[in-house]
Amino acid sequence: MRMRNKPWAIDYLESNDQLVDVNNNYSKKIKEFFSKDQPLHIEVGTGMGTFITTLAQNNPDINYVGIEIDKNVMIRVTEKVVDLGLENVRLVLLDANKLMDYFNENEVDKVYLNFSDPWPKNRHAKRRLTHSNFLSSYKQLLKENTIVEFKTDNRGLFEFSLISMNTYGMKFENLNLDVHADEPETNIRTEYEEKFSQRGHKIYWIQASF
Ligand code: SAM
Repeated sequence: MRMRNKPWAIDYLESNDQLVDVNNNYSKKIKEFFSKDQPLHIEVGTGMGTFITTLAQNNPDINYVGIEIDKNVMIRVTEKVVDLGLENVRLVLLDANKLMDYFNENEVDKVYLNFSDPWPKNRHAKRRLTHSNFLSSYKQLLKENTIVEFKTDNRGLFEFSLISMNTYGMKFENLNLDVHADEPETNIRTEYEEKFSQRGHKIYWIQASF
């Protein structure tokens, strides 16, 4: 997702320091960033945030962390969290490559990946958020018997992800090759999901565990 550069982005995010961690102040102590001690779910590549803010409204007994690398995109989700007054969402400006520097081992109860960038060229495969290097991070930060949930419209990325997860030894718990054909009530459409669904793309979804 490319958004126009906003020179004031960092100032804006830093002025919301009760909600957004711009400078890794909560690295290794993310639980202190929340008012309540409750299970922790993270979304990597939050984008504009419809997914995480809807999920957080529906599940006030879960704490959510949105991880986003792009400060300009982060503004949009921050505005949503402020408008909705959500106490159980915190946002971290971070490259997913640094997840293990930021979180403690066995601290997270679920990882969500939605419409991750496909990086179609083979030489960029390591940047895909379902590459084995990332799976290794998720495995370390997740508690035992927990889930990675991944949704995309990109068939190539989905196939790559199934192979990557399978090769890594992950177990496929649930799989849907056309989520919108009979859309579950629990499905929350992300911004990208809405856009690509309108173009007639199928939406693929998997829940897998380590
Ligand atoms: N999840 C949103 C959705 O479904 O509408 C956004 C999808 S968009 C294609 C991918 C998002 O992941 C972008 O906002 C991008 O900045 C973010 N992203 C890509 N690589 C990342 C990384 N290494 N660490 C954190 N965020 C990343």
